[in-house]
Amino acid sequence: MTRVSSIAAVLGVALCASPALAQGPPPLQPVTMKQLKPDVWAGIGGSGGNSTIAIGKTGVIVVDAKQTEAGAKDLLAEIAKITPKPVTTVFLTHSDGDHVNGLVAYPANVKVIAHMNNKKEQEAAIAAGGRGAPPPDRLPSQVVMKNKETMTIDGVKLELYHWAPAHTSGDLIVYLPAQKVAATGDIIVTNRADDNPNLHIDKNGSAEGWITNVKGIVGLNADVYVPGHGDLQMKADIQRRLTAVTARRAKIATMVKAGKSLEEIKAALPDAPAPGARAAAPPAGAAPGGRGPAPGFVDVAYAELTRKS
Ligand SMILES: [Zn+2]
Repeated sequence: MTRVSSIAAVLGVALCASPALAQGPPPLQPVTMKQLKPDVWAGIGGSGGNSTIAIGKTGVIVVDAKQTEAGAKDLLAEIAKITPKPVTTVFLTHSDGDHVNGLVAYPANVKVIAHMNNKKEQEAAIAAGGRGAPPPDRLPSQVVMKNKETMTIDGVKLELYHWAPAHTSGDLIVYLPAQKVAATGDIIVTNRADDNPNLHIDKNGSAEGWITNVKGIVGLNADVYVPGHGDLQMKADIQRRLTAVTARRAKIATMVKAGKSLEEIKAALPDAPAPGARAAAPPAGAAPGGRGPAPGFVDVAYAELTRKS
């Protein structure tokens, strides 16, 4: 046995042993709290996506709930160190479990506000059941139906935007105009090896819609952005990403016009895998058990471009 293969054998044993360990809850990654403004914080990382926290006159508004009960409790404990005020309202930027499922740890009477398509996606996930389905007793109690809604909650001014489907069909950007802070959800993530956005084709995510939304996000008068995953972003970071993705989509469009196949385009413009990406559910009509890699940016852009031509 070569040295490499013996290492592989050892690793193989370790990998085989891990499912037994995986039965228990995963080890909790603690959230990192960052103060953005006197009354606004970001809860970076921990369990699931980033959270944004705004302290109102009598209560607390949280954007994105974390993934697990333990992770949400960790965030709530950190908020309790900042203020004794209770969490009264949770906004959800989209329907993915790593932003929603921690709701189980919040007070039963918490108000949950999300885009109407987010609620539809959660209802579909609950109906489908299985691991990762959202908590059925914490569905959004208020839905956003317009491209822009403004509201004041507990003295906190909020602007909510949904210009088009992007990461999912129910994305919601939560902007605090007085504090100049915007929570983008997973429309912006920085934990990939490339600039491509993560687009959920199974939730009607859209490459074209992503560009529309990010133009809107850049247009906000924000001086700091809380992305869905990864580090805080400045406007210049978002603009650079928008420019890169717009150029990439234009390249794909040119290749589609030139009659290139999806495989040829993917070979010319490879996507980095989404972080922690599991194989996506097979598309409807696919052979049973056929779980391919999760569709990447090229897949989504190609599908849109060829549908239109
Ligand atoms: Zn996420």
